[in-house]
Amino acid sequence: MRAMVLEAQGDPLVERELPDPVPAEGQILIEVSTCGVCRTDLHIVDGELTEPKLPLVLGHQIVGRMISAGEGAGRFAEGDRVGVPWLGWTDGTCRFCRSGRENLCEHAKFTGYDLDGGYAERAVADERFCFPIPGEFPDDHAAPLLCAGLIGYRSLRLAGEGERLGLYGFGSSAHIICQVAVARGWHVYALTREGDGETQELARSLGAEWAGAVGDPEAADLDAAIVFAPVGDLMVEALRAMAPGGTVVSAGIHMSDIPSFPYELLWHERTMRSVANLTRLDGEEFLPLAASVPVETSIQVYPLGDANRALDDIRHGRVGGSAVLEIGG
Ligand SMILES: [Zn+2]
Ligand SMILES: [Zn+2]
Repeated sequence: MRAMVLEAQGDPLVERELPDPVPAEGQILIEVSTCGVCRTDLHIVDGELTEPKLPLVLGHQIVGRMISAGEGAGRFAEGDRVGVPWLGWTDGTCRFCRSGRENLCEHAKFTGYDLDGGYAERAVADERFCFPIPGEFPDDHAAPLLCAGLIGYRSLRLAGEGERLGLYGFGSSAHIICQVAVARGWHVYALTREGDGETQELARSLGAEWAGAVGDPEAADLDAAIVFAPVGDLMVEALRAMAPGGTVVSAGIHMSDIPSFPYELLWHERTMRSVANLTRLDGEEFLPLAASVPVETSIQVYPLGDANRALDDIRHGRVGGSAVLEIGG
């Protein structure tokens, strides 16, 4: 099968012909149709996330069809459409797994990081961690739901209740969760780079009540904020915009250092926290919710062989919405 492979961190992906993966016990073999490209993939290529499996097939937003099952796998039938997310395996026994926090599993394995992912024509996955994809979504529009959507959803859940929500950085994840938040009655404030009128326009078209530059005094007195851009300064900017009791959530897996700030900004029960990974329950809740909104993902499509260009476009903020690799039928 054809795959885009990371052989060494810091190097571009290289196109390789690899043997088809063979599903082990409990796994299914999937004919990959599309795979979303995530900022996390960029952090892996750049070496900000250390110790990936090498060589590695990236990609943890896989949509495809089940073509065969390994021993003991019986959840899906041949031809069923499945989605494969970032959480690829957990031990099920550690204290986090036993308390409904498998996203924090001590021995978790992640798709496209510890396990080969979906920048390839075929992939294997543990069937227990796959999701059925609601029929409403075409393959390519469904792919970004599997990480950008799911992590956004978990972030929104952990941001708590309120009326006014700030989204800092309006890319793949924010453009999805904006629609979910609006459907849930939030007044959404989208904060982008100064002068990025195109992204601000996208935010308004997706239901944001206000869109403007980070630091604009109009985006204040917020009950919650989710910071999607990997920029530590934004955590403090968002905290500055919080109403009493407000929560700032960092949705990313990697971020530049957060500068120090006066305690006064945190006082009045404001919270600053991160969100890590996902649980299967998040996916079971989110995918039907996304279908009911209904969420419309705005996608930029690339052929598999152009994965490096897709990553580069994310790096330079050139993707409006989500980048997706078109791989097979
Ligand atoms: Zn565990
Ligand atoms: Zn991701």
